[in-house]
Amino acid sequence: MEGQKRFDVCVIGAGYTGLSASLHLAAQGLDVALVEAHRVGWGASGRNGGQLGYGMTVMQPELVRRFGAEAARRFWDISVESVELFHHLCERHSIDCDFRPGTMACATTQSNLDHLLRHADIVESYGTDIYRRLDAASTRETSGSPIYTGAILSYRAGHINPLKYAFGLARAAEKAGVSIFEGTRAIDIQVAEPAKVSLETGEITADYVVLGCNGYLQALNKSLAKRILPVNNYQAATEVLDEETRNTLLKGEICIWDTSNSVHYFRLTPDNRLVMGCSIGIPGRPPGNLERDCRRHINYVYPNLRDVKIDYTWGGTLAGTRSRLPDVGRLAPNLLYAQGYTGHGVGIAPLVGKYLANAICAESDGFEFLGSFDHKNVLGGRFLRTPSIIVYRLMTNTRDMLTRRLFGR
Ligand SMILES: Cc1cc2nc3c(=O)[nH]c(=O)nc-3n(C[C@H](O)[C@H](O)[C@H](O)COP(=O)(O)OP(=O)(O)OC[C@H]3O[C@@H](n4cnc5c(N)ncnc54)[C@H](O)[C@@H]3O)c2cc1C
Repeated sequence: MEGQKRFDVCVIGAGYTGLSASLHLAAQGLDVALVEAHRVGWGASGRNGGQLGYGMTVMQPELVRRFGAEAARRFWDISVESVELFHHLCERHSIDCDFRPGTMACATTQSNLDHLLRHADIVESYGTDIYRRLDAASTRETSGSPIYTGAILSYRAGHINPLKYAFGLARAAEKAGVSIFEGTRAIDIQVAEPAKVSLETGEITADYVVLGCNGYLQALNKSLAKRILPVNNYQAATEVLDEETRNTLLKGEICIWDTSNSVHYFRLTPDNRLVMGCSIGIPGRPPGNLERDCRRHINYVYPNLRDVKIDYTWGGTLAGTRSRLPDVGRLAPNLLYAQGYTGHGVGIAPLVGKYLANAICAESDGFEFLGSFDHKNVLGGRFLRTPSIIVYRLMTNTRDMLTRRLFGR
């Protein structure tokens, strides 16, 4: 975008947060500019594992312990609302993003399984029966992997092609009247009434500004940047698998995440490639041999895929918070933000985008609730970020290797 323009709201970042905020603002009659440094869905939203799950990154037993039963229940309800919003948006705006039902959380140790089952117990106490419990034999049968001790499985949630979802939201936003400016980086925000957003080649004046830059925020707002740890996560897609090999893997079309230290998450694409998410790293510095790294993780889960070719590898940056819960709020009466979904934004980020829009247009209980939690700066400051990711990567790899050697999984 060049020159000066005036809008009711300027939203920065065209990932799920910014796209959904823009769509819901325009639907309520506001004139919205959505500025994106690269292209729609260029960030985590176009590169993620596509798992749309219930719950938050922090599971119910820990939420109850940390915040009490009532707040834990509220977090759960928000996650249910996020899955419902996904289905509503796809239906309302005819978004085809290859949704397939079924997410299975698989445990690699007995104590991890006990934790998953405690989580399911609490959820069932809310009067819902969304989880099926699987013993070791059925988990191995359903996952096709020999390494799991048990699992919980739900079918209303599932997995998607993440970039198709981002494009679908962008099309809906444009149709609702949002002006999307790709290749347009915001370089400064002046908080005033109206606010001014300086771009590399122009300026937007707006009554409200929404920040949805997540792990790519960098120096645009230093106080928010201190509260997140940007971490890269990498995935690999195998070659198209023949029918016989494919049938040894996941049963049906479900996706899986597991409780190993590296947190493997995987699914099959409609054309029968296995897409495995696994390895973590430092933003901007992919591991020396990413393919070898990903192959190690694929072999860990599926030893029988040793000879399968990897066709693609890629990574993206996600933002973690110290609490492992989303950081949502206002930096000024007309400057709102959301970030730090800690690897769990496919459902939650679009819902939070809706909350941001509602908080601007009238009020939003969800925005008030999520905004009521105090988010502390990530420990160690800017200089310890890279070493802490390196240490974490070493620790998870070593722990997984020891588990494998000691327990054969
Ligand atoms: C590899 C990977 C796998 C994941 N897997 C899953 C999963 O399976 N399930 C799940 O629930 N979550 C997953 N996540 C997390 C999920 O993708 C994110 O939580 C979610 O996409 C965050 O959306 P967002 O819109 O907040 O941020 P992003 O999608 O990262 O969007 C931020 C955008 O802001 C733009 N931007 C930044 N600065 C500026 C600026 N100054 N001016 C203009 N634009 C700017 C960026 O270019 C970017 O496009 C994964 C993340 C990664 C990286």
